[in-house]
Amino acid sequence: MSEITTTDQASRYAKSLEANTWAQEIMPGGVSSPVRAYKAVGRIPVTIKSGDKATVTDIDGNIYIDYVLSYGPLILGHTPEPAAAAMSKVLRSGWSFGMPTELESQLAQTIVDAVPAIDLVRFVNSGTEAVMSAIRLARAATVRDKIIKCTGCYHGHSDSLLVQAGSGATTLGVPSSPGVPAQITAGTVLIPFNDIPTAEKALAENDIAALVIEPIAGNMGCIPPQENYLQTLRDLCDKHGTLLIFDEVMTGFRVAKGCAQSIYNITPDLTCLGKVVGGGLPCAAYGGREDLMRKVAPDGPVYQAGTLSGNPLAMAAGLSTLETLFSTDAYAKLESIGNALEIGLKKIASDAGVPVYTTRVGSMIGLFFSDSPVHNYEDAVACDTAKYSTFFSVMLDQGVILAPSAFETWFVSTEHDQAALDVTFAAAAKAFAAVAAM
Ligand SMILES: *Cc1c(COP(=O)(O)O)cnc(C)c1O
Repeated sequence: MSEITTTDQASRYAKSLEANTWAQEIMPGGVSSPVRAYKAVGRIPVTIKSGDKATVTDIDGNIYIDYVLSYGPLILGHTPEPAAAAMSKVLRSGWSFGMPTELESQLAQTIVDAVPAIDLVRFVNSGTEAVMSAIRLARAATVRDKIIKCTGCYHGHSDSLLVQAGSGATTLGVPSSPGVPAQITAGTVLIPFNDIPTAEKALAENDIAALVIEPIAGNMGCIPPQENYLQTLRDLCDKHGTLLIFDEVMTGFRVAKGCAQSIYNITPDLTCLGKVVGGGLPCAAYGGREDLMRKVAPDGPVYQAGTLSGNPLAMAAGLSTLETLFSTDAYAKLESIGNALEIGLKKIASDAGVPVYTTRVGSMIGLFFSDSPVHNYEDAVACDTAKYSTFFSVMLDQGVILAPSAFETWFVSTEHDQAALDVTFAAAAKAFAAVAAM
């Protein structure tokens, strides 16, 4: 158990507790997205007032080193000055027109230049929309209806993808949701991540429009692809006339300038982006091969639209974020901070006698309470979630905020410095000790 008593928590989080009571009266769970309610970790969420670089501050004035980073978008930390300046400019000149702006073309050009597999790009407002739209396009292009997804991968909450969908869905124990018609998910074939034989079998009928996958799974903790897995999927998709869709909503521009596909040297047919591409504003995108993307309306018949799509504020935030990433040593920095964090956590866990399995690709880190490797969803859900809850709770009380679910990836930003790591490691020593004492 934490050395912090419940009474201490009540005074430490007094304003957050009050804010949560109010929020619960007027919003389901008091939140705008389910994982934020802290149900999986048995706590009351803190209510955030502000963010600065690697930290957030709650309304009680508690400061936390932030490894949530808005679930990934804030790769430069909170309130980076160039993005703030770019958005301020937009705030003085108009932030939505429903008409073309140069900012859209500038961000589109930046994406097309950075990702060779993307010839054309369409902006949308969320990762959910990006993947949903890419799948519509794939179905239209192949004149097939079925899709394949991996168990534990999350591709947003659209109907056909809300099957065994990782993090939020996993944590809440609702692998699929009421309200999703069975005939819609009937066309979604599930295969385990990192498993070739099931992929072979699922593709063999030649009736699959698209195989959609997170190239680095990030919604069941962080699970990198095993050697040759993605290349084999690429080859199998080619053989069976199935389009390969990389959902890089989490990995896109987080793990590399060319996204995860550049690390593994795979060319997907379509790529979905989100999170980092909008720098923390609602923005996502899908793009890919010209012959496919020309099928999107109005060049082609595949309808997809959005009132606020490509809005100037989001374009400015995204463009500034990518420009900073591409013009500085950001990725080297992220690699070194991520590496130091992973090594530090492993050592502290080992010193405390707590078996953990860690994974990492750049600034995405997975920490699993498991004494064996984690390569897929089955391995991930076998991990000890009670241990994670204790760990999470002590970390929070010690000033380190993590995602309130054992199935989320840790993110670091370029603003996570040695001082932030020192606070994290001091907190982790107490948190792992509390887990060891369970
Ligand atoms: C976050 C995420 C989504 C959904 O994006 P939203 O903007 O939350 O709709 C889709 N796919 C992946 C891989 C994600 O990490």
